[in-house]
Amino acid sequence: MSDDKPKCGAKLFIGDDFGDNSATMTCDLPPGHGGLHQETFWRHNPNDLDADLKPALVTWPFDERLHCKKHGIQPSGFCPACIDEEFEDDESEPISF
Ligand SMILES: [Zn+2]
Ligand SMILES: [Zn+2]
Repeated sequence: MSDDKPKCGAKLFIGDDFGDNSATMTCDLPPGHGGLHQETFWRHNPNDLDADLKPALVTWPFDERLHCKKHGIQPSGFCPACIDEEFEDDESEPISF
């Protein structure tokens, strides 16, 4: 794996086939790329284990990470910092003079 190159990092949050969990795709194209986001998975053919790995390509149109106006791009679909702030605001209100 060559993880030293900067990546776009856009996410796609999908449910798995069994519906009891979720999977996250992460775009491995360079930052600022055009067109669709994409992640490539290298797969073994389970019916032909001697064959070479083949790429499975997933593409999607939108970065589904939250782009928070205050805290920037979050690793998931929500902003923990904003949730913390909201909680603090709620607490401080009754104490205001
Ligand atoms: Zn991307
Ligand atoms: Zn935020």
